[in-house]
Amino acid sequence: MDLLKYIDNKDISDNIKNISKKIIENKRISKDECKTLYNEAELGLLGMLANFVREQKNGKKTYYNKNIHIEPTNICIYNCKFCSYSKKIGGEGWELNLEQIIEKIKKAPEDITEVHIVGGVHPFRDIYYYSEIIKEIKLITIFLIIKTSKSKSIEIRLFQIYNQLKEVVKKYQPKTIILEQLFFFKNQKTVIRVSQAQGVILLLAAENKINVEYLTPLQIKQTITGYGKADKKAVQKMIKLETGINITQDDQADAVAIGLAWNITH
Ligand code: SF4
Repeated sequence: MDLLKYIDNKDISDNIKNISKKIIENKRISKDECKTLYNEAELGLLGMLANFVREQKNGKKTYYNKNIHIEPTNICIYNCKFCSYSKKIGGEGWELNLEQIIEKIKKAPEDITEVHIVGGVHPFRDIYYYSEIIKEIKLITIFLIIKTSKSKSIEIRLFQIYNQLKEVVKKYQPKTIILEQLFFFKNQKTVIRVSQAQGVILLLAAENKINVEYLTPLQIKQTITGYGKADKKAVQKMIKLETGINITQDDQADAVAIGLAWNITH
């Protein structure tokens, strides 16, 4: 559709027409013009203008993510006209506590890339309450495990690793990636698979200009426990002591250990 022609023919005020044309001509609009659009332009026109700007920036691309939706409460101090959701305290509202929220997130599929939180404006829950929730959520979501299907070919599995790590890099924007220095594996097949996966990580690091460093298993254990031949349980115990986080999954513990060892030594 020719948006300019559409606006010219539309029965709207000259002021709205002129502001809309400025947007289409990629000219900056002032704060007052923004307010005028917000207060006076009809919703359909606003949507068309917003979509025009979006397409200027992103073309015809649309991005999706896989997320979990958490609604901590529907109790709300407001009474927005269009809302059929909010309830007052003492009514039929719900209030999830921190444990219930964490429980829900733990049950979410492992490949989610977003925890989407939305809900009512609870009279007794302030910004500090939500900052605590976010802190706890970050603790459980940052230790991502990427699982690929064993029935798939190696190139597909590497591609899955690449795509999921790309999301992690986008989300956390790391400055450094620490890899375990490959030394000795009893199983030849394992060393080949781990090298292939590390190749994908190196590619991602190069693409995003991320510094790559290496630590040997001995260095990691030595740094964290003081003993280079410590077993996994000892490493997990020290992670808990250092960070307060209880990690019992071996792969997660290995990943946290390498990051922790790097932090301690740098
Ligand atoms: S829940 Fe949101 S939309 Fe509903 S009354 Fe509260 S602020 Fe308004």
